[in-house]
Amino acid sequence: AAKDRGLGLIEVFDDDASSRSLDRLGLRSDLLGALEREQFALNFQPICDLRSGQVVAFEALLRWTHPQRGPVPPDVFIPLAEETGAIVPIGHWVLEQACRELARWGLHGGPRVRVNVNLSPVQLQQPNLARGLLDIVRQSGVDPGDVCLEVTEHSYLREDVTESAAVLRSAGLHFALDDFGTSYSSLNYLKWFPIDHLKVDRSFVGGVAASDTDRGIVRAVLAIAESLRLGVIAEGVETEEQRAALLDLGCVWGQGNLLSTPLTPDAALDLLTGARHSVTAT
Ligand code: C2E
Ligand code: MG
Ligand code: MG
Ligand code: MG
Repeated sequence: AAKDRGLGLIEVFDDDASSRSLDRLGLRSDLLGALEREQFALNFQPICDLRSGQVVAFEALLRWTHPQRGPVPPDVFIPLAEETGAIVPIGHWVLEQACRELARWGLHGGPRVRVNVNLSPVQLQQPNLARGLLDIVRQSGVDPGDVCLEVTEHSYLREDVTESAAVLRSAGLHFALDDFGTSYSSLNYLKWFPIDHLKVDRSFVGGVAASDTDRGIVRAVLAIAESLRLGVIAEGVETEEQRAALLDLGCVWGQGNLLSTPLTPDAALDLLTGARHSVTAT
């Protein structure tokens, strides 16, 4: 739709669409100063062993609090940051903060966990991607093997990013394929992109207990993963029924509001240093 492509002629004649575009323009310019005005924060959502609830990793999720509008959802501001290129410095900041928190949790005696950081397709296109990211990880002092970059199936996931990905992979970083199964791309990139984990999109996890189709899709993803020796993480686990159905299919890692919503860095530390560093479904 035209609204997805920014200001188009059609929108000039459509009150609703043009006010939406102005809204986007306002947000877009505010976003450019948001990093230096320290309006960003990270939340961390546990990725758990579905059997025991033990936390194995945290996914860093970016939060933007606009001074007038309050919290703006990532699904709104990430695409704007991608359009302007602001996602590149923002993405560096996210990795830096995520590594800093991971190091801090370790210093406070937390058990060893990994941190997952989302990487925009726009970042993947940067020529100096590998060096920029590696510098950040090395300066933080965390083990590169404890950092996992989440990438989405996207047309930018082309063979020309293989070199950067291979450099990062050989330095020890891991890759997860996010929202797996939601785009129309082929599975071809599984042959050349160095993937370690597949994250099954929550649109399939949502129906895993109730829908034969969704269950069949999750079963197929697990089969692909097994033959390629990839780990599988179920996204958006919200109910006990879903957890039981996933375990029944052999999916042992999950993330979702049943286990824990995204946490502030201090709440994540509390979880890690608590009596059990596991989450319980309530
Ligand atoms: P994602 O990477 O697939 O992240 C998972 C999203 O699912 C998060 O939304 C999380 O809060 C949400 N979620 C987790 N558990 C549940 C659940 O049980 N039910 C439901 N309904 N949702 C659940 P969030 O934080 O709003 O982020 C949305 C998307 O924005 C992310 O999807 C990711 O694509 C993007 N994003 C977030 N942070 C960053 C970032 O630092 N960099 C980049 N490039 N993208 C980011
Ligand atoms: Mg993600
Ligand atoms: Mg995801
Ligand atoms: Mg998703």
